[in-house]
Amino acid sequence: MIERIDAEKCIGCGQCVRLCPLDALRLNEEGKAYIAYPEDCMTCFICERACPSGALYVHPFKEQLPSVFPDSDA
Ligand code: SF4
Ligand code: SF4
Repeated sequence: MIERIDAEKCIGCGQCVRLCPLDALRLNEEGKAYIAYPEDCMTCFICERACPSGALYVHPFKEQLPSVFPDSDA
């Protein structure tokens, strides 16, 4: 699940928009990438790895894990 694009770091190169296989990203009028279709993201990390400025953050899990797991011995 793509979580965040840091607009301060984004240099507007468009790499993430071009490479996303699910076409989930777009550039806005200011030339900054944004997540247009977050539900389409398949967590492939291509955008994060391709971003030259480290502006993208992809989280491996769609849902937050519970903060405490049940104790298996309980
Ligand atoms: S992780 Fe993959 S599917 Fe998700 S936005 Fe990035 S390139 Fe697209
Ligand atoms: S690859 Fe990174 S720097 Fe380039 S448009 Fe996407 S978020 Fe911005």
